[in-house]
Amino acid sequence: EARALGRGRHARWLPEVGAQGERRLRVVADLRRALEREQLSLVFQPIMPLDGSRATAIEALLRWSHPDLGEVSPEQFVPLAEECGLIQPIGAWVIEQACRELVGLRAEGLAFDYVAVNVSVLQLREQRFAGMVADILQRTGMEPRRLALEVTESCAMNDPDGILARLRALKALGVTLIMDDFGTGYSSLAQLRSFPVDLLKLDRLFIQGIEEDEGAAQICEIVVRLGRALRLTVVAEGIETEAQRQYLRQIGCDYAQGFLIARPMPAASLRQFMVQAA
Ligand code: C2E
Ligand code: MG
Ligand code: MG
Ligand code: MG
Repeated sequence: EARALGRGRHARWLPEVGAQGERRLRVVADLRRALEREQLSLVFQPIMPLDGSRATAIEALLRWSHPDLGEVSPEQFVPLAEECGLIQPIGAWVIEQACRELVGLRAEGLAFDYVAVNVSVLQLREQRFAGMVADILQRTGMEPRRLALEVTESCAMNDPDGILARLRALKALGVTLIMDDFGTGYSSLAQLRSFPVDLLKLDRLFIQGIEEDEGAAQICEIVVRLGRALRLTVVAEGIETEAQRQYLRQIGCDYAQGFLIARPMPAASLRQFMVQAA
């Protein structure tokens, strides 16, 4: 499972914390104060059009710089924040910060198309989520379509949490919606059909199999065709080799994101990136 593998890769820290209740509690307490202590920050990874016909976009990724533990991966602390009810305030901070950054970059003449922000299903479960997003858009002067929210989790068949209604409310605001990690984890075809998403992000598991595994390459091609049939823009994440980029361009994928193009970087470095990419 891609999700399990992804978590396992950074799992050194969490079992340790899990094994020692006291230490875990301390980390939770630290996370609770991380916002006010300004230990959280965002880095941005460019999302480039494959055929040059669109503008470059960016994905905002959360970082926690802990005084003793160093850089803690979001794969570690986001689940923790979800467990202890901190993902809502942290998530709201991420959205506002990302909007401010995009508005600022555009004001400097760096015409990034949109900023994508990951949202937890726990945020989507909050009744006031769409209203909060509307407030942030207004406060920051952000054009709604330039905020793209990345969602992953499936809602239950009968949707007791009203997630579908919340996604529709976000669409009504004019916000862009992305189905993240498509093809793995919790995303499904049923969800794709019922969720009002605009973009589809093909999980890096398939991208990384393109050269070794005929099946992975075929899945990429089929997802691109599926996206086209449903009038969705398709983004490939985790592109690390030129061969992968070539293949994705050839099958008509719209956008590319990955270490081959650029690693996630602080906003200041995006200026230099745009100059070099131009
Ligand atoms: P994601 O949304 O699927 O983000 C893509 C992850 O893949 C990022 O890891 C990114 O640094 C990494 N990546 C990008 N290109 C490549 C590549 O070419 N090769 C490889 N191996 N990796 C690549 P990161 O920043 O560690 O984030 C991990 C996950 O944490 C994200 O996966 C997302 O699910 C979650 N996350 C990050 N920021 C936030 C946030 O603000 N809120 C929430 N709720 N979750 C977040
Ligand atoms: Mg994402
Ligand atoms: Mg993703
Ligand atoms: Mg992923």
